[in-house]
Amino acid sequence: MDQERLRALPAVHRLLAESGIAAYCAELGTAVVKQIIDGVLRDVRSDASLSASPVPRFDDIVAMVHLACAHEASQGLVEVLNGTGVLLHTNLGRAPLAQEALEAIRRIGSGYSNLEYDLETGARGSRYERVSSLLRATSGAEDGLVVNNCAAAMFLILDAFAKRREVIVSRSELIEIGGGFRLPDVLTHSGARLVEVGTTNKVYLDDFERALSADTALLLRTHMSNYRIVGFVTNVAPAELAALGRRVGVPVIEDLGSGALIDLAQFGLPHERTVHEAVLDGLDLVAFSGDKLLGGPQAGIIVGRASLISRLRANPLLRALRVDKATLAALAATLQCYSEGRWSAIPLYRMLAAPQHELLERAQGLAENLQRAEIEAQARTMEGCAGGGTLPLAPLPSAGIVIPHAPNRGSNVLASALRKASPPIVVRSEEAGIAIDLRAIPAARDRSLQDAVIGCVRAGTALSCGN
Ligand SMILES: *Cc1c(COP(=O)(O)O)cnc(C)c1O
Repeated sequence: MDQERLRALPAVHRLLAESGIAAYCAELGTAVVKQIIDGVLRDVRSDASLSASPVPRFDDIVAMVHLACAHEASQGLVEVLNGTGVLLHTNLGRAPLAQEALEAIRRIGSGYSNLEYDLETGARGSRYERVSSLLRATSGAEDGLVVNNCAAAMFLILDAFAKRREVIVSRSELIEIGGGFRLPDVLTHSGARLVEVGTTNKVYLDDFERALSADTALLLRTHMSNYRIVGFVTNVAPAELAALGRRVGVPVIEDLGSGALIDLAQFGLPHERTVHEAVLDGLDLVAFSGDKLLGGPQAGIIVGRASLISRLRANPLLRALRVDKATLAALAATLQCYSEGRWSAIPLYRMLAAPQHELLERAQGLAENLQRAEIEAQARTMEGCAGGGTLPLAPLPSAGIVIPHAPNRGSNVLASALRKASPPIVVRSEEAGIAIDLRAIPAARDRSLQDAVIGCVRAGTALSCGN
């Protein structure tokens, strides 16, 4: 009798021909949609053979396939609008790339390039040469090298200089940053021995000096990216630590994390130690990210003394951490913007520079349009932040819209609907409603934002009316 009932299941080709599902074929590819349909039919078959319940109707099966296709589509990498007010949101891809960087990727990526080829001699060249002169120019260091991210940069440095040897670190700087990067663990995994000195709030040069031994490989400074220690505090100035290292012949390394190339004070933000300052302080190697305050592609950049950089270049681990041509092309184009003083070509700095009143005007325009569509939206000033483990205590004066939670509806219903909109919008949930901060949303996308909010609120209202 099961056979009888199951014969009623629609054929795959009938489902593929249904218009909504056919649209998913264009988006996901027919092969993927077929797999999804097979999975849905398999589930239906096994449900039907386990219970005597009737086989779902054609329309119900179509709806099930739709849902599964929508889920699949949201799993692919899609553009989202970032309404969180966090400019360098690691979960949302950190820094948007400059137009120049995107053009460079297109130019270099769509054909061949001299990535590892010396056009003068016709012999093999170094892929790292392509950006090192720009790194020298923008940081003031003797040489530079690029790997996949700052975590990889630190790993390479530890592997090259500190295997089975000691690295001295202040207890105040034993950081954990997002994504499971815990400095003590990274040290252990690289085969280095961690020597902690000082206390959480007080560390003196003398602490480092007394911990030196014949086994000391490095003195390490780490940027307090995502926290601050305030109150009864003493730290060692970077230049002092660098001088100690020089005196005793031990390299001094700084994991700078965010790696600003320009002074953030011009954006009304607290001063953030720049790469150039770290180099001027005499640090032997400085490591930082390409996609934090530099505003470029994901990369880990190491600048510093030529003799140490050449030891890193000779390390076999570099082969496993090497960057792709697209990254190098985008990074070079981004650095070029800095070397020409055109920081405003970098989206991160355009977003940081947008005056609050301009954001508020956009918010007022949006709120009025939403109110005309009978949505209770208000324009409001807000506070965003740089994010990405940079400037943890510096609020960014911002503005955006707030939509109060509808009565009788779970507080996160609208936030969840907006995540499924096209393009998805990621918002901040507040007690009174959802907040959409406009600083990280390009003005050109206000219309898409508005349409998505109207669509989601209307769909939500229709649902709750039906209940
Ligand atoms: C962010 C950060 C890192 C990791 O950088 P990735 O490029 O994400 O690997 C390492 N150290 C510090 C201090 C950081 O802030």
